[in-house]
Amino acid sequence: MTLPRLILPLLIAAACALGGCAYNPDLGRDQLLIVNDNNLARDGEKAWADALRTSHVSKEPRKNARVQAVGQRVIVAAGLAGRPWEYAVFLEEAPNAFVLPGGYVGVTVGLLSLVENDDQLAAVIGHEAGHVVARHAAERVSQETTSKVLLGIAKAAAGGTEFGKLLKDHGEDATRYGLLLPFSRKQELEADKLGVDFMQRAGYRPREAVKLWRNMQALDGGKSGGDLGSTHPSDAVRIQELERYLASKGW
Ligand SMILES: [Zn+2]
Repeated sequence: MTLPRLILPLLIAAACALGGCAYNPDLGRDQLLIVNDNNLARDGEKAWADALRTSHVSKEPRKNARVQAVGQRVIVAAGLAGRPWEYAVFLEEAPNAFVLPGGYVGVTVGLLSLVENDDQLAAVIGHEAGHVVARHAAERVSQETTSKVLLGIAKAAAGGTEFGKLLKDHGEDATRYGLLLPFSRKQELEADKLGVDFMQRAGYRPREAVKLWRNMQALDGGKSGGDLGSTHPSDAVRIQELERYLASKGW
């Protein structure tokens, strides 16, 4: 269901008023979150198990050690090291990476071929970790669910169903596909900025992030998959925004 641009913020404001919003200090803004971290971690665990079952992973020690070393530095810098993390290198040519709530980092061999150095690998993992820290999957699914629920509220009122129960039921259903929803442009920009923050904190060179996204942009847009493929590689605005952010930080 697609909602007119002006109506969705109003619906979300209504849902916030009903207690579904939380302030995220990493983003400096309120977020509508009706799914909790435990649900997300459980979904992450399931998605990871599915990925391992349906894809081939590299057993090459050097590749695995590289992803683990760079990934762990970024995860620590992102403040996510409170749990043990698992890392895997997937035998897929499309350059892609993902970081799943619950503690999982996956990188494809295609991405390892594309990055020119560990800094650029850190940029990708940092971007994906940014989505986790920003709770973007939960936010996306909360928005979609709430708009559906609020649009159906008249019907619910007629049937005597409580609004709170409706939100809760739909919220639990919704997490099943929450990790698969594409991120919005605003969320991509937030993940870019958090990503370079984590890189810098981890001792990597933030400017390499710009080179990485330029290289991604130079690729045929259809060649990369997952989150990296959904991030509008042709969108020069994103790179400009990131450059402006780096300049503002003196990086
Ligand atoms: Zn992204």
